[in-house]
Amino acid sequence: MRTPQQACTSRPNTKPRGRGGRQPATGPAPVFTMVDRQHTARHSRRSDADVVSVMIRRIFTLLAITSLWASAAWAAPANIENNGAPHHVVDLVFIAEGYTVDEQDTFLADATQIYDGLMKSAPYNALRPLFSAHAIAVVSAESGSDHPATQVERDTAFDSTFDSNGISRLITANTGEIMARANAQMPSYDIAILVVNDAQYGGSGGAIPMVSLHPKAVAILRHELAHNLADLADEYEAPYPGYPPGDSEPNVTKQLDPVPWKSWVASDTPVPTAMAAATGPYSPIGAYEGARYQSKGIYRPAPSCLMRTLSAEFCPICAEAMILSVSGDSATIRGHQPAGSQIACVAGLCPMMSLTVTTQESVEVTWLLDGNAVAKGLEWTPPSTLVGAHVVVARSFDTSPLVRDDPASQLFESRQWQLTITGAPPPVDAAPADLFVPPIDTQPDAQEPTQPDAQEPTPPRRASAAGGCGASPWQSTPFGLLPLCLAAIVARRRRVL
Ligand SMILES: [Zn+2]
Repeated sequence: MRTPQQACTSRPNTKPRGRGGRQPATGPAPVFTMVDRQHTARHSRRSDADVVSVMIRRIFTLLAITSLWASAAWAAPANIENNGAPHHVVDLVFIAEGYTVDEQDTFLADATQIYDGLMKSAPYNALRPLFSAHAIAVVSAESGSDHPATQVERDTAFDSTFDSNGISRLITANTGEIMARANAQMPSYDIAILVVNDAQYGGSGGAIPMVSLHPKAVAILRHELAHNLADLADEYEAPYPGYPPGDSEPNVTKQLDPVPWKSWVASDTPVPTAMAAATGPYSPIGAYEGARYQSKGIYRPAPSCLMRTLSAEFCPICAEAMILSVSGDSATIRGHQPAGSQIACVAGLCPMMSLTVTTQESVEVTWLLDGNAVAKGLEWTPPSTLVGAHVVVARSFDTSPLVRDDPASQLFESRQWQLTITGAPPPVDAAPADLFVPPIDTQPDAQEPTQPDAQEPTPPRRASAAGGCGASPWQSTPFGLLPLCLAAIVARRRRVL
């Protein structure tokens, strides 16, 4: 399970990200290119004077940011959806770009709409309780974004622009300033997303996914976040010169015997798998050649996937990887009682034990006593007959049918208690009315039937006259309720007397 510090710093900012900015082979074009790289490239064409000017402006911007931060002039991030403490969830933070002071309410509505669309799509919908979303309002002097190809320039907070590297749909911006703003206002954020107030189709991936307000913004963000969340590779083949070689991502491989997703491959599916063998966009799962900016020598799991084209859904392998990764980076168990890990109690008086878990319907809780499953559900109380020292484990498990392989046990969480129970268990049969035992020397009346009436329930098993201390340790006597052995002794005494 993730720690808060891991949550807010490591994933988006340290993993290398590079997404080809070229048109994929089929369908609408994803628009991802390493943002820092593109932004640097865009500014590298400027003159030295321009560079100095930019540096001076950035210094003043940094001073302004520091000053504003110190004076707490920024509004607190707004909650779009809060599903738990930062160390329990993946915190998405939407940041405004190109929204004027009069458009901040519009920004919140736009960010909320994009987030809702994202969380209604698979597999995000299965993971929604593991996410929280927030919005950071940032005021730009002008509305919109730059479009150099048409000589449109806007004075905006993060200097965003379309037409990056000559690709009209490729949006870039000053990621350093975006990260600084996110860190200043919400240090616990996991992934920052820039919402660009412009309706033209566009976006980009990388450390800071960026989307415009085009209707395909949600599809773009679904794809981009999959890079950030699960380290998924692009599955399209358009070359990305200079991108590091390899096949470390969970949805691509150069290894065919076996493929990493072998549990999804039917025994009668040939590997590698020809496109002619496809029976649907995501079946059969096999090894289709062409992925990760190469057409040869590297394989993807399915004929199609959202990591290959925006018009598709995620293939089963990508969906599985996302569920495992998000589950591993968040917490299903949100609380437990008793709070401590040591419980000392008296037999029959031990407290009920309970877990609080997220609202995912696929999550089940099993209780284990000394390693043996004894109950299912959110609560369990030690039985009154239990004494001695025991280990109790409450284990949550996401039974999602979208996952077949969980080698790192990321769908499991548990809480453990050391349970020490003292004292003898209370009497098992303590109801006097049911415990009459005939006197030892009483003989059956010859007139009475020797067999119980068939209409009456079979009487409880009695202690035998010969044994005395039989199945029931108690019996009623003219002197009240006595332990059976004592009653037997009294009876014998009376007979002797
Ligand atoms: Zn895929």
